[in-house]
Amino acid sequence: MRDLKQSEFNIGTLGHVDHGKTTLTKAITGVWTDRHSESLKRSMTIKLGYADAIIKKCEGCGEDGPGMYTVGESCMDCENKPEPFRRISLLDSPGHETLMATAIAGSSIIDAVMLVISSTEPCPMPQTREHLMLISTLGIKKIIVVQTKVDIVGREKAKAHYEQIKKFVSGTVAESAPIVPVMANKNVNVDAVLQQIAAIEPPKHDLSSDPLMYIARSFDVNKPGTPIKDLVGGVAGGSIVRGKFKIGDEIEISPGINAARDKAKKESYEPIITTIESLSSGTDQLQEALPGGLIAFGTTIDPAFTKTDSLVGNLVGHAGKLPQPVNSLTLKYNMLKREDIPKQAFKNGEPVILGIGTATTVGYVKVAKKSTLEIDLKRPVCADPKTKISILRNFAQRWRLSGFGTIA
Ligand code: ZN
Repeated sequence: MRDLKQSEFNIGTLGHVDHGKTTLTKAITGVWTDRHSESLKRSMTIKLGYADAIIKKCEGCGEDGPGMYTVGESCMDCENKPEPFRRISLLDSPGHETLMATAIAGSSIIDAVMLVISSTEPCPMPQTREHLMLISTLGIKKIIVVQTKVDIVGREKAKAHYEQIKKFVSGTVAESAPIVPVMANKNVNVDAVLQQIAAIEPPKHDLSSDPLMYIARSFDVNKPGTPIKDLVGGVAGGSIVRGKFKIGDEIEISPGINAARDKAKKESYEPIITTIESLSSGTDQLQEALPGGLIAFGTTIDPAFTKTDSLVGNLVGHAGKLPQPVNSLTLKYNMLKREDIPKQAFKNGEPVILGIGTATTVGYVKVAKKSTLEIDLKRPVCADPKTKISILRNFAQRWRLSGFGTIA
């Protein structure tokens, strides 16, 4: 049996608001019901905004028969006990807001995507279209389209809607993606989604380079009123994109925290050097953490610095091994071909939002050329040179995903 102490990859759920992402996530993970976990660990999982699922496979059933894959204790089709097959982490993108930057922040650590499309509305709805564009921009190729709420519309309408989806994805990166109709609230056909997830080959990770993690969440796990002697250090959660971290490693978090003493003066960031006190994946404690899934790092940092996601967007590496933070960036960029936004050149001084790793930052265009942009950043970022950077522009009071770039 595989060592499934850590997830093999992250799957993001994307799709239009109210299309059933959370119900699907719950059907797949049975989340927040793990009775064995201690409350502290459980609260960590919730705060990380993700859930792990162990997909089990029944060897006793036919190759493609239903019931082959389950997250439950027993096979739905036969007497055999299914064996753990794959452990994945699901990241639920915030469905209640339209700000693409948030989805982008999550997507830099996503290996595969479930694009959730409700059959109760015509396809595509605006966010469905935007999210597919995002998937394409970020180069995510492992895509499962999940057609939800088919029980509400009935068979004929669901079939017609399925054809709408096929037409919508035709000619896109999702053209050959499976489309799985489900009734997630009744747990009907969720096993077919599990089968598709199980069929995804986990990405091959680089384990020998200097390790790098993007912080996606950070928090203070101490309950109010905890005596000082019982306080634990700040916790940061995120995804390791390469290399390994182990307990005891001296790490650097960069660009770190705003250390300006005078609030009126320009912000001045200082990296944090700390030590890894603990590593966990879901409810499992690890000695060593590799890429795959979301990992929580316990540190020796004052928890005041980690509370309420204050470290999101930072990079973590071994001390002294991270790129230097920068206050401006020169990007090679490409604009997306979108019919719903104006084709207009960048203006000097135009504000943009950049999605860099898990950081979203405001910048101002300093020099715009045909294929390069110089941007002054409001706050420094620490950017891995290989990161793909998304560019949002403001049109008619809305931030729109307009292009993407790489560091020149
Ligand atoms: Zn079976």
